[in-house]
Order: sequence, then structure tokens, then C-alpha cells
Amino acid sequence: MDKERIVKNESLLRQINEGIAGAAAEHGRGDSQLPYVCECPVLECGRILHLTLAKYQAVRQHPARFLVANGHEVEGVEEVVERQARYLVVKKIGEAK
Ligand SMILES: [Zn+2]
Repeated sequence: MDKERIVKNESLLRQINEGIAGAAAEHGRGDSQLPYVCECPVLECGRILHLTLAKYQAVRQHPARFLVANGHEVEGVEEVVERQARYLVVKKIGEAK
């Protein structure tokens, strides 16, 4: 899979998720489980992952980290930094953006 395309798609998904997180923060829904889209490079994925705003923001604090469904990590491009029952936090290997 072409790496530039992966990065582009994941950035787009990140914007969607940031919109969800931003709206939740505005409405004071920090404690509820919110639907975020899987940020893996498969365009048709569209998997919804439920986690709290705080959890999502913790991922977002690191610019190179992404939220993906369990099993959606891309070997050789991403490294799993956190493993939960339903989702993973992955980190891009070799770049910090
Ligand atoms: Zn996915």
C-alpha cells in the first residue's frame, strides 16, 4: 500500500474525529462514550469505535498516533502503542506528524 495515500486518508479521518471530539467538548459530554471512526488506511472501513472524549484526547495529544479497530494496524508502517479490547492506538514509524 502506498504510504502517502495512507497518511492522507488518516488525516481526513482524523479531521472527522476531531469534529466529533470538539462538538462533545462543547456540549459537556466528556464522560459519555462517543462514536469515532477507525483511522486505518482502508477507505471502505468506516468502523465505529466508542470511547470517551478523554480517551480520544489522550490519543490526540501525540500527533503521530492514530485510533484504529483491533486488527486494523498496518505492519511496517505503524506500531501498536496501546491495545484495548475493541481498539488500538498506533503510532507512525519514522515520522512525527
Ligand atoms: Zn479500520
